[in-house]
Amino acid sequence: MSRTIRTFEATIPNQQQVRDDLDQLGWAASKLWNVGRYYAQEQWDETGEIPDDGELKAELKGHERYTDLHSQSSQRVLEELAEAFNGWFGKRRNGDDRARPPGYRKNGDSHPRSTVSFKAAGFKHDAQFTRVRLSKGRNLKEHRSDFILCEYQTRPGVDLTEWDIQQVRAVYKRDEWRLQFVCRTTIDPEPPGDGVAGVDLGICNFAAVSFGGESVLYPGGALKEDEYYFSKKKAKCDDSSSREATRLDRKRTGRRTHFLHALSKATVKECVERGVGTLVVGDLGGIREDDENGESRNWGDHGNLDLHGWAFDRFTTLLDYKAEAEGIDVELVSERDTSKSCSACGHTDDTQRVERGLYVCEKCDTVANADVNGAENIRQKVLPSLATDGGDRDNGWLAQPAVHLFDRSEGVFAPREQL
Ligand SMILES: [Zn+2]
Repeated sequence: MSRTIRTFEATIPNQQQVRDDLDQLGWAASKLWNVGRYYAQEQWDETGEIPDDGELKAELKGHERYTDLHSQSSQRVLEELAEAFNGWFGKRRNGDDRARPPGYRKNGDSHPRSTVSFKAAGFKHDAQFTRVRLSKGRNLKEHRSDFILCEYQTRPGVDLTEWDIQQVRAVYKRDEWRLQFVCRTTIDPEPPGDGVAGVDLGICNFAAVSFGGESVLYPGGALKEDEYYFSKKKAKCDDSSSREATRLDRKRTGRRTHFLHALSKATVKECVERGVGTLVVGDLGGIREDDENGESRNWGDHGNLDLHGWAFDRFTTLLDYKAEAEGIDVELVSERDTSKSCSACGHTDDTQRVERGLYVCEKCDTVANADVNGAENIRQKVLPSLATDGGDRDNGWLAQPAVHLFDRSEGVFAPREQL
């Protein structure tokens, strides 16, 4: 059984109602941090040592500021302070003389809004009404109610009932409070079947998927168009660190992430429908190593390696956890020779050239979409026996993949004829 920890971020639709209460807790967390920081300084001056989190908690337990927050939330603030000191010691030990000890949390004359963490006893999750009750400390309970009732909204597709929530964090970001749910898996689903699918990642077709006997292409056009659009927009900015440039970067990242989420979701859905239990992905890490030997594809002809390196890594991560939630195993295999071999007969030809996206085998005359051929070769890497009887099988599907395009207005991938 796999156990994974994941953090989901959510917005708070009833922000207006809970904002003041969360502000109070955020300020209280900053004050407690400063109390702890001051105490640590005193100890340091007297003894030459910094107290650890156990000592901080024991010493400050009776402090007025400690009871502004739920005891577990206060403990967490002091743990963070101790962690910050440890991080600083570590850097110093490694010879980083410029490293500075953790500072006080001040924002002019007032206190900034620190992150507040709620452990098991400090929150209550109401899955039915998608809200969570966050406990306040004793000091802040007197005048108003003793908890804050936050509604929350996660990204579409995230279902917190499938997770065991370990901790909730209230985080102040971009002028509003958000919630982070730190979760552990509770489910260990049965795989949809024992089928095997192969995925080949590339530039024109971001992903080609072979199910053996059937294949789907996911063109990366939408991603490339965005890249072009944002590069041009950004080139018009006078200053690459300006507010406008930052806004564009954020928007571009958001769009890329959305594309990759939709793609990984679509891929996993196709796998579930076909009873796939193992998803094999060509490992591009191998390709990049091959580059030094001059053996692999020339990425330079196709565009921005940075974008695609980033996008492939991110996609593989998303695919991995979406597949895991369905009980599908994701395996990475080397992409070596997967573009040079015929997936129908296994013949490998180093001089094989791909023309107009087609792979033509000189031995068995199979004609295949080059990316589908790659995906099928990747799929075969984990199959018990290789298909070497190309002549006897109907290989028409290799040349006729279905094409699923990204529909911007819906934000999903759909078969071409439905668009
Ligand atoms: Zn062949």
